[in-house]
Amino acid sequence: METDDIFAAVAKIQSKSRKSEKDKFIEETVKYEKKVYDLEQLVEIGLAFSSTLNFDNLIESIVYMSMAQMHVMGGEIFVRDFTTNEYLTLATSKDIITREALKITTNSILAKKLLEIHEPITFDELQKLLPPCEELQLIKQFNPTLIVPLVDKSRLNGILILLERIVIENDSSYFADELAQMKSIAKLASVAITNASLLEISSTDMMTQLKLKYYFLNMLSDSLTTAFERERNLSVLMFDIDFFKKFNDTYGHECGDYVLITVASLIKNSLRGSDIAGRYGGEEFTVLLDGASKDDAMIVAERIRSTIEHHDFVYNNQHLHVTISGGVSVFDVDTNPVSNPNEFINQADKGLYLSKNNGRNRVTFFDPNN
Ligand code: GH3
Ligand code: MG
Ligand code: MG
Repeated sequence: METDDIFAAVAKIQSKSRKSEKDKFIEETVKYEKKVYDLEQLVEIGLAFSSTLNFDNLIESIVYMSMAQMHVMGGEIFVRDFTTNEYLTLATSKDIITREALKITTNSILAKKLLEIHEPITFDELQKLLPPCEELQLIKQFNPTLIVPLVDKSRLNGILILLERIVIENDSSYFADELAQMKSIAKLASVAITNASLLEISSTDMMTQLKLKYYFLNMLSDSLTTAFERERNLSVLMFDIDFFKKFNDTYGHECGDYVLITVASLIKNSLRGSDIAGRYGGEEFTVLLDGASKDDAMIVAERIRSTIEHHDFVYNNQHLHVTISGGVSVFDVDTNPVSNPNEFINQADKGLYLSKNNGRNRVTFFDPNN
């Protein structure tokens, strides 16, 4: 080989190795950029979780953010029942019957194993670690890819189930950095679930599962401020069960409780997730409809009244005829710029009073001009 050729070869090798140094540098930079990006995402996610105290919104947020981060097409989540601590129910299902049917007890082998693992695990791996069991079958029907235990303070707060993965370059397996990211999200989600459930328990009436008066008033106060700023409508419905005393007096207090619980669940099931239903007093209920105009509010109120009138209440083989009366008031910057939540509720109460006086089993709009 000529000297010139040798020099040329050396130069080539040097430039190659310089290039690979450069490649390495680029690779490292990309890696760090990805890390910074992931951390930024985590901060955002942490903020979103910790500022969402509404339980249903938090659950939705946990599922959607995890789906986006892990590139999956769907997700479900089982959350611990914080009143009994005995089982986890499918919180992503709005249907109470489905929730009741799909339960994972906290002392099942699946729950115990997930608590022990306390990090994301693929469904295939999980299956290898457990004997065939009912709970595994229950999860399997969702066609899960990744199972994420949500653990806080040594308690299994939830089980996040991620479904079909979007295939990237023919590879549907989870990468190590993705699993690490999911582990961090799971930690944030678990703490947020603890906090939201504490608020949920302390603001919820145990008997009817509706919001307590003070919480309702707080939410109403916030909503009034927003409605005023954005010049939007906001409606309050107030209901009272007609001749409720007769159920207590004729069939006993337990029958009264049955009617109360059933009316409460019928009201709740007639609403959207963003509406708030409260137990205002003994057998008085309030509903907050954000953004609802007079027409919207009257439709919802009438629907609730009619649903209860037509529901077949059966207590100890006795068919009970249950009806409710209602009053509706609507915040409007021009026609009814009420600013005090108590005053707003009093308006709905006046409508309710008219319904009672005019024969019950009806709803009446409170007209601020009368
Ligand atoms: P009206 O149509 O005028 O509303 O008649 P009403 O019989 O419903 O009258 P009222 O509103 O005065 O009756 C309320 C009753 O509700 C009185 C109280 O004993 C009963 N009550 C309040 N809280 C509970 C509860 O938690 N369980 C039961 N079983 N009864 C309750
Ligand atoms: Mg009453
Ligand atoms: Mg009553």
